[in-house]
Amino acid sequence: MEYTIQPIGLIHSCYREKFGIPRQPGLVKSARGAIELLSPCDREEMFKGLETFSHIWLQFVFHEAVGDGWRPTVRPPWLGGRERVGLFASRSPHRPNFLGLSVVRYLGMRKEQGKLFLDIGELDLLHGTPIVDIKPYVPYSDRVEDAANGFVRFSEKKIGVRFSPEAEAACCSYQEESGRDLRTLIQEILEQDPRPASQRQQHREYGMLLWEVNVRWLADETGFTVLSLEKKE
Ligand code: SAH
Repeated sequence: MEYTIQPIGLIHSCYREKFGIPRQPGLVKSARGAIELLSPCDREEMFKGLETFSHIWLQFVFHEAVGDGWRPTVRPPWLGGRERVGLFASRSPHRPNFLGLSVVRYLGMRKEQGKLFLDIGELDLLHGTPIVDIKPYVPYSDRVEDAANGFVRFSEKKIGVRFSPEAEAACCSYQEESGRDLRTLIQEILEQDPRPASQRQQHREYGMLLWEVNVRWLADETGFTVLSLEKKE
């Protein structure tokens, strides 16, 4: 038995590469993106009533994981990257059908140059991700009061993030020209510590692409320092 699914939309996201994307939605509140709806699902009537919900479920394809295949067990970052658990006990992108599931904030519908977009926030999706379904999140039945977090060990301790004067100034001018609060976005992403567990003790520089800006930052024993922002042409 085989099923064929067609994307109903494509994600436009502040996350332009995998490194830096938070491990789940909702963790980086200032993350922004949009779903560009594709024919035959680019009809306004298909979303009538959706504006009454604050959040939506997105089902999508981890399109950038397909090439790497999957394994029956994985080392989730929540366990410090040391212990293995079963693939189906994890949220790993590397799964037999490469399907992902995220609850994101719904910010409304917008028409631009004949295309229909749904604006979203708090996402954990890479730019270009194909969306295969959208449903309202209904807390009345979807929120589970007595649910357990399982083996997930999240640290309450946030990492200290500083900005160099140069990075601070670059955030200000970027905000003036684009209207985007890049400073808050960088701060919230770095507080989540995007480094792989194996690199947590290292003193080194990193780069991540947010919108069209390459952000360079330094990790050392005192925390993270955002060094510079460089706009990609
Ligand atoms: N909330 C989803 C995703 C969890 S995994 C779920 O539970 O199914 C989150 C990771 O997926 C992110 O750290 C990011 O690196 C990765 N990711 C996001 N979009 C992707 C894509 N289109 N292809 C491959 N990996 C992606």
